[in-house]
Amino acid sequence: MRAVITGGSGFLGSHLCRRLLAEGCDVLCLDSLLTGTEANVTELLTDEHFTFERCDVTEFLSVDGEVDWIFHFASPASPVDYIEHPLETLKVGAIGTWCVLGLARAKGAGVLLASTSEVYGDPKVHPQPESYWGNVNPIGPRSVYDEAKRYAEALTTAYHRTHDIPVRIVRIFNTFGPRMRRRDGRAVPNFISQALSGEPLTVHGDGGQTRSLCYVDDLIEGIWRLLNSGDAAPVNIGNPEEVSVLALAEMIRDLARSDSEIVFQPRPEDDPELRCPDITRARSILGWEPKVSLSEGLERTVDWARPLWG
Ligand code: UDP
Repeated sequence: MRAVITGGSGFLGSHLCRRLLAEGCDVLCLDSLLTGTEANVTELLTDEHFTFERCDVTEFLSVDGEVDWIFHFASPASPVDYIEHPLETLKVGAIGTWCVLGLARAKGAGVLLASTSEVYGDPKVHPQPESYWGNVNPIGPRSVYDEAKRYAEALTTAYHRTHDIPVRIVRIFNTFGPRMRRRDGRAVPNFISQALSGEPLTVHGDGGQTRSLCYVDDLIEGIWRLLNSGDAAPVNIGNPEEVSVLALAEMIRDLARSDSEIVFQPRPEDDPELRCPDITRARSILGWEPKVSLSEGLERTVDWARPLWG
């Protein structure tokens, strides 16, 4: 199988490249390097089955040779990144998805779209099943990401219905692990970096808002199973182990054996109050559920970060 991965040198993309290579695929990794970094895939460059090309998929997208699957992972994905790059985020979800689907059609390939739990916005249903349509502010600061991904899901599904191309849509909930960017602004890298360097951990609001965090290896396993399923409808992949942001900060501080204090800062606008995946569908159609607990995953991530960020 020959796979093209957009955003292949980002956090999730770089893990997916490795998994696909391990499964025996040829991998073409495309990345504009807006938020990804080539260092995430440097060690793969010696593999004859791996190629990296710097390329902005919102421009015309052309690939030589046969392609079996395109994994569309290109997008700024942390709130700090997409709020800093609002137009690029909307473009890669809209025009980038058009280019990917057009290339897939020309090549007779399938598309696996990286969607997000952000399609549920600030949810009124908890936990969130795929059948929930969400509660998204269409003009709020997060809308550039939420609406781009909702549009990308609509477009991907329309291509499937109109042109019958194989598609998969994974709704990714908060994921963490090695190769997260230290300064991408998310809670996990912020807290780990702060704890390791003895700085205060910055909890937004009173820290009572919740998230459900999945270790990256579990997410990639879910994506691999989804690829091999025949299902074109969205599937939640995430770990239903829900924690408050304050509890997360305390866990990370303990694992890092840090005596940093915790400080409270204002909540960002439209920050979702609750987030937890209902993974009934993933369990039944993929036989998938997460294997790595939050504390085990955080421990592995702190161990990875300590020599780099400490
Ligand atoms: N958060 C925090 N301190 C930080 C960064 C994030 O308290 O330094 C909070 C943020 O307001 C949100 C939660 O942690 O309530 C998760 O934020 P993140 O950016 O990791 O992901 P999101 O789920 O919002 O996309």
